[in-house]
Amino acid sequence: MTDLSYILNELGEDRDEYFRAIAPPIVQTSNFAFRKVADMRRAFEDEYSTWLYSRGLNPTVEILRKKLAALDGAEDCLVFNSGAAAIFAAVLSQVKSGDHIVSVKKPYSWAQRMFDVILPRFQVTVTYVDGTDTAHFEAAIQSNTTLIYLESPNSWLFELQDLAAVAALAKKHNIVTICDNSYCSPLYQQPIKLGIDLVLQSATKYIGGHSDVVAGVLSGSKEKMEKIFNSEYMTVGSGIQPFNAWLLIRGLRTLPARLERISRTTQQVVDFLHAHPRVEKVLFPLDPSFPQYELAKKQMKGACGLLTFFIKTDKRETIEVFCESLQHILMAVSWGGYESLIIPKCAGLQPAAFNAADPEHRSLRLYVGLEEADYLLTDLEAAFKAISRLS
Ligand SMILES: *Cc1c(COP(=O)(O)O)cnc(C)c1O
Repeated sequence: MTDLSYILNELGEDRDEYFRAIAPPIVQTSNFAFRKVADMRRAFEDEYSTWLYSRGLNPTVEILRKKLAALDGAEDCLVFNSGAAAIFAAVLSQVKSGDHIVSVKKPYSWAQRMFDVILPRFQVTVTYVDGTDTAHFEAAIQSNTTLIYLESPNSWLFELQDLAAVAALAKKHNIVTICDNSYCSPLYQQPIKLGIDLVLQSATKYIGGHSDVVAGVLSGSKEKMEKIFNSEYMTVGSGIQPFNAWLLIRGLRTLPARLERISRTTQQVVDFLHAHPRVEKVLFPLDPSFPQYELAKKQMKGACGLLTFFIKTDKRETIEVFCESLQHILMAVSWGGYESLIIPKCAGLQPAAFNAADPEHRSLRLYVGLEEADYLLTDLEAAFKAISRLS
């Protein structure tokens, strides 16, 4: 295994090419010039290995690709201008009319939208399964199944799939596997090493790390990546722009330090919430109380900053007062940045649909950022005080 520090600090960078500058240049160009017709002809024949046009390859993006592929333990990767674009290209590359997909239930919302709204128009069908038991995947496989779609852990209740077991099952049936690895990042889980064919992540989250860029990564074998480059990547034109690629390279420099810090603080927040009388339950994959704790320990090196907790209450208003009382933890989507964030499940429900008997309706997803632990615990404590007189 290549040293992590080598990947983050050196791999893909050639300072002799750009004045020995420490930070690589943003090669903000749309196109590249040739001196010889023969060179231009070669580029037309094989755009996957030549500078021609920045919808295809770009030198700043190239540095990033080498690093991200190495982090995933993959031969190659492509970087997109969103995680959703990476999902779209990956799935589209593996299905044709009449094919069938087995997907873990409740995948990322826009993946599900693709499965439910777009693919049926092209006669591609999807069966959703509870992924906590590998047997459910086996039972759902049909003769026309070409793809198994995974997300482990998912990003609300953190349900896991046994990646090695599902990958082995898929290989037996000649089915391609895709796994959304956004929750762990490649530092804490490497699905390709467990036998998964294509791994993707939203680089908007931990790779960017500063809540200022939207991007996605798709990694796999050189053969698969070249095929996707020459079809979905080039036709949809959803590759990352050089400046955003540069921001991701910068994010990578501090990725291990950020994840270490976030992991430590998250443990303190989990402990605080477990001990709080208004908290019914805390979900965090590497907490011994987590239903799939053993599997999490087996296939994940870390769990980082996302957790979900359930407030004891029979009223939606109590949850709303709690969230609106937070002074520092911001109410916003996404995660992986420097700032702590919260989303109450009830924000996604019409007020009348709230049902206190359904624990999920009382859940809040918290992302722990880079703040001091005490800063966050004081904020949470004040919000609990604000609801202490509410039922
Ligand atoms: C955010 C996210 C995505 C989508 O990524 P974007 O960069 O927002 O397009 C996909 N999967 C998971 C699990 C995510 O959290």
